[in-house]
Amino acid sequence: MQTIQIGGSSLKSSRLAYGCWRVAGTWNPEEVMPEREAAGRRAILTAYEAGYTLFDHADIYCMGAGEKIFGQVLKEVSGMRERVVIASKCGIRKKGDSTPAAPYRYDFTAPYILQSCEASLKRLGVEVIDLYQLHRPDYLCDPAEVAEAFSKLKQQGKVREFGVSNFRPSQVVMLQKACPMRLLVNQVEISLARLNCFEDGTLDQCLAETMTPLAWSPLAGGQLADVMPIDLRAEDHAKRIGLREELEHLARERGTTRTIVALAWLMKHPSGIVPIVGSTKGERIKEAVEAVDFELSREEWYLLLEASRGERLP
Ligand code: NAP
Repeated sequence: MQTIQIGGSSLKSSRLAYGCWRVAGTWNPEEVMPEREAAGRRAILTAYEAGYTLFDHADIYCMGAGEKIFGQVLKEVSGMRERVVIASKCGIRKKGDSTPAAPYRYDFTAPYILQSCEASLKRLGVEVIDLYQLHRPDYLCDPAEVAEAFSKLKQQGKVREFGVSNFRPSQVVMLQKACPMRLLVNQVEISLARLNCFEDGTLDQCLAETMTPLAWSPLAGGQLADVMPIDLRAEDHAKRIGLREELEHLARERGTTRTIVALAWLMKHPSGIVPIVGSTKGERIKEAVEAVDFELSREEWYLLLEASRGERLP
């Protein structure tokens, strides 16, 4: 697969990343049975064999089960660790974490970042995480404290590079100002069904600062893909149907699938968006790779933008 330099650094990734959010097949760690682990391992291995080299994790994905399953694959496949970029995240704490009364919350305190990283390294079974991201902005974030934690992790050789996720441009500026190392990525929701980042300055900032936008839910959790039904109770369902029709029309005209068109649409943006593919089905994981070499014209790109907006541009 084609590659891309992450945030202009020496970290090189495949043009598409593979997301491990769903690999445990459940959100409940108590339901992770050997068959589910085996299916998760198969999905990861399929992605690796299809040429994906960036694997995205978070400590909260099935409470660490996703990282553990990935760790098992790394043990089984010789040479894989050296060929992949391991990304993970921290900063979200589930309800009941540490005390029964504790609410769901965000935590960027230095001790929590350090402890989370340590736990992820252990589950993944590796010495170093290549890209460590803060999952969602902590309302009580003290940038100096985050910088201290990041510096310690870097010094200890536990993390190579750092990034953020779901940050607004102003939050990136705030944290970058305090950090001695560059923040290489902002992992955000971008898809034809979610255009915010085109309009709120996120992608402009990525271009200006040579940060790589990693796009989560690039197929809107499957809604843009080929067989997923549209929820007719959703307020904007008419717009979504219009978008799907335009995608379908273009895909047919070009002899391809909606999935490929939707992923190619993201990759056409000059900021170098890296879509994080989230399917757990081998065929879909492989199919997505075709999007890397699929070129959309500017006219086709704008047709889809218009369909997504549900109205003409001003
Ligand atoms: P996605 O690719 O938009 O959606 C994947 C989902 O769509 C899967 O449930 C998949 O089901 C389904 N799907 C895919 N192709 C389909 C098709 N042709 N027909 C029907 N269904 C189809 O991405 P995502 O999984 O939502 O997110 C991708 C990654 O982004 C995650 O793994 C995670 O790494 C990251 N993420 C990050 C954040 C954040 O806050 N930073 C939030 C969410 C996700 P099957 O498995 O059955 O194919």
